[in-house]
Amino acid sequence: MQKILFYSDFCSSTHRLMTRWLLLLALAVFAHPLSSAAQSSPPNLVILFADDLGYGDLGVYGHPTIRTPHLDRMAAEGMKFTQFYVGASICTPSRAALLTGRLPQRSGMSSDRRGVLFPDSKLGLPTEEHTIAEMLRERGYATAAIGKWHLGHLPEFLPTNHGFDLYFGIPYSNDMDRVGDNTHIANPPGNNIWIDPKIETWNVPLMRNEEIVERPAEQHTITRRYTQEAVQFIEAHQDQPFFVYLPYSLPHVPLFASEDFQTSPRGPYGDVVEEIDWSVGQVMETLHTLGLAENTLVVFTSDNGPWLTYQTQGGSSGLLRDGKGTTWDGGMRVPALAWWPGTIAPGTVTDALATTMDLLPTAAALAEATLPQDRPYDGTSLLPLLRGETDAVRNTVPFYRGTQLFALRQGPWKAHFITRGAYETDQGPQVLDTPELYHLDHDPSEQFNIADRHPDVVAALLAEAERLRASLTPAPSRLDARIGE
Ligand code: MG
Repeated sequence: MQKILFYSDFCSSTHRLMTRWLLLLALAVFAHPLSSAAQSSPPNLVILFADDLGYGDLGVYGHPTIRTPHLDRMAAEGMKFTQFYVGASICTPSRAALLTGRLPQRSGMSSDRRGVLFPDSKLGLPTEEHTIAEMLRERGYATAAIGKWHLGHLPEFLPTNHGFDLYFGIPYSNDMDRVGDNTHIANPPGNNIWIDPKIETWNVPLMRNEEIVERPAEQHTITRRYTQEAVQFIEAHQDQPFFVYLPYSLPHVPLFASEDFQTSPRGPYGDVVEEIDWSVGQVMETLHTLGLAENTLVVFTSDNGPWLTYQTQGGSSGLLRDGKGTTWDGGMRVPALAWWPGTIAPGTVTDALATTMDLLPTAAALAEATLPQDRPYDGTSLLPLLRGETDAVRNTVPFYRGTQLFALRQGPWKAHFITRGAYETDQGPQVLDTPELYHLDHDPSEQFNIADRHPDVVAALLAEAERLRASLTPAPSRLDARIGE
């Protein structure tokens, strides 16, 4: 009996063991396809794009009085770039470069005459361009553009015709459609500031998709409203992949912050940057709350350097030379942070050369999309860098102004072929008989021209510039045509 009992116990315990093993086996078998399914849901992409924010304007980039705890945390939990560049030193061509992954000269979105699009502009980003949004929408992403567009305000060129399901924002800069200028001081040259700016001075429209919903746009609350819109979009689309492109209209002048943010020691410019920092925090918190943080790549950067002629109303390029409008590093090297918990090692600082044109190939890699083969691209995926699989992305960065190649960087070396000041300090292009040469690792402020000591480096950069010029004929400019012409 005991034996039987023993045998029975043995059988039942064996049975229990077997059942357990079978259960574990079943779990393993079923868990695998489940986790594969979870992994096969492609990562979301959020691009936060400030306007005219300089390299030196964030706490994590060394600003002493602008308080940016959320961006600082984004860097602490993610990756900080120290050598990240834009495709142009002013708004329209820079945005075209980011969204198309191509130098703006290829799409006609650069000009030697007008620089950017204006409210009387007749054209915009060509329909044939294949934006990040179009590429991701084809892969099942929900797509939203929330903020300043500046790639054409007529219906054909709006975000809703360039791959975005939703558009909410202003179609061009917040200082356009000016209906009065008695608060603007631009005399003497270089002394550009707005005294006590009023909303009504700029008749800028706020649009939802193709409709104007407010005019003039109430700019004090605009950052807050962009943020609410982005959070709502993420919440509404949490069960499918999404792409949110959030190009803030600030800290481009005129500066407006909501009442809660008028306390920065840095003054109105600091108020605006601190509100943008709050906005970034809201986006990160939303992703955490929804459990999406580990499946979302968030990138924060700026469209160009600071507008220095606006004095304290413009930002700072820190130790870099000059600012917006120029091909010195202060015009085109910008703060850039990437955040993707679980994928990017926390607290990574990279000196890899990278550009906004690398974001489209990065998005393609995230979504496993294939780039159209009928056009050249100017970017390389950042994914291996973000994953810690490599520490380099590219070796060359071109610096165009309008349709011309002004300078070229290879590794630490940067040669200037043409130099030119910005805005009120502009005395026209200076075509240099001998290029100026700077070693940006030794001399990030581009102070010491050492071309004489390195003729071989100058020759190599001249040859590379010639190769680039020969391979890229700028498309006819689309920024010059005016409505009614
Ligand atoms: Mg800008």
